[in-house]
Order: sequence, then structure tokens, then C-alpha cells
Amino acid sequence: MSLLRVDHVDKSYGEERVLRDVSFEMERQDVEVIVGPSGSGKSTMLRCVNRLTEIDDGEIYLDGEEIHDLDQNDLRRRVGMVFQDFNLFAHRTARGNITLGLEEVLGKSHEEATRVAEDYLERVGLADQADSYPAELSGGQQQRVGIARALAMEPELLLFDEPTSALDPELIGEVLDVMHDLAEEGMTMLCVTHEMDFARSVASTLTVLDDGQIVERGPPEQLFENPEHERTRAFLGDLT
Ligand code: ADP
Ligand code: MG
Repeated sequence: MSLLRVDHVDKSYGEERVLRDVSFEMERQDVEVIVGPSGSGKSTMLRCVNRLTEIDDGEIYLDGEEIHDLDQNDLRRRVGMVFQDFNLFAHRTARGNITLGLEEVLGKSHEEATRVAEDYLERVGLADQADSYPAELSGGQQQRVGIARALAMEPELLLFDEPTSALDPELIGEVLDVMHDLAEEGMTMLCVTHEMDFARSVASTLTVLDDGQIVERGPPEQLFENPEHERTRAFLGDLT
């Protein structure tokens, strides 16, 4: 059974149809990269998967269960999200950003949460920054805390919404390296990103979204080398 099945999803904001009959499936350990012009519905698509946004029509299944039948806290634990602007709590340390969900959502003791948080900080190369506040960290370090925070909840699926778009160019690589390692470890990842080298080397599937519709979807090499649609060619051509 697919880990994620998006089935004929529609979403409008007022008169504007933002997602139009979007369907796709992801298997466990897939890394799906979604690309598309600004305003094409990429963020909305991700946000529908963990119900930060509600769909108007269609269904979304996580491991065979329709997500509207799941408890929302349970869904958010099972589907982690990494945001473009990191979304860290400014008044909490790197460690404190991670322990919060572990204690409040998973009910772990403070000691256990601290131990788990430090393990995940080490995993993203930030063992020595546990006591730092977000403002004391570089953008790349903040985003790695964001990834560690998502991972600590042991999600089945991790959503990334342009995780490197807010970073200075010299900091992008450290975040992509962490994502690359996660993919190799078998994490199932649905990523919106314009990093085409990442898409080429890591993605199992590349999806082009335009005006709320899937234009083309397939193995990245196929879309890069032999796109079926002119819009795929034009869009990927602009990025590379
Ligand atoms: P992308 O991430 O591809 O840039 P978005 O999913 O953010 O696209 O947005 C798709 C369209 O939906 C845009 O026209 C945007 O203005 C609109 N939109 C997104 N979120 C909202 C919202 N909360 N309220 C109204 N319109 C929205
Ligand atoms: Mg977006």
C-alpha cells in the first residue's frame, strides 16, 4: 500500500482554484520533488497533506487511512514539516525547540526529551549548539534545527517547503547534505525545492506543478532529458 495517496484533490481560495484535480502516490522511501512557478500551488499541496490547509474535494490517504479520519495531532506527528523560514521558537534554545513537541505531544519526560533532542542535534551536526538560541545561529544551522525537530517526532513522511530558499548561497549545501543523508537512510520525503542538482541526484520522482495542475511527473532523468511537455522543458530549462 502507498504511504501517501493524493486522490483528485481540489482546493480553492475564494474564486481562485489553487489545486485542480491533483492525484499522485508515494511509496515508502520515495523522495518526491515538486517544482513549479511561484503561485502554482506547491505550498498549498504540502499544507493539505498535514491539514494545515483543508481540501475542498478529493481524498488524501496516509498509509491507507483518510487523513480526515485521523486525529490532527496524530497526523501532524506522523507527517513532519520543514518550513522555508524555519519557524523556530525564538525564545527557546535549539534543544528546547526539539524537546517541546517530545514533551507536549509525545508525553516524554524532560530527561528523555533532552536525551532525544541532543541525539537529533548530533545527527544534523549541531551537538555543540544545543544551548544556542535561533538568533545566535546561522540560517543553515537554524534550518538544521528545524529538520532535527521534525525528525525527533519520528515521522513517517517529511514535507519540505523550499527549505533552502531563505538561505545565503554558501549555507544551502549544509542543509541539502542533511536531506541527502536522510534520503539515503530511507526517509520518505516530499520536497518543494528549486535545487535542481538535488532533484536530479536524490529524487525518485519529479513533479511539475503549474497553475494547480500536475503537468508532468516521472523519474527526474526522464523529465530533464526527455520531457513530454513543452512547459516542463521551459520550466526546468529556466532553472538549470
Ligand atoms: P506556491 O507555493 O507554488 O508559490 P501557493 O500554494 O503558496 O503557491 O499559492 C497558490 C495560490 O494560492 C497563490 O495564488 C496564492 O496567492 C494563493 N493562496 C495561498 N495561500 C492562500 C491563503 N491562505 N489565502 C488566499 N490565497 C492563498
Ligand atoms: Mg510556496
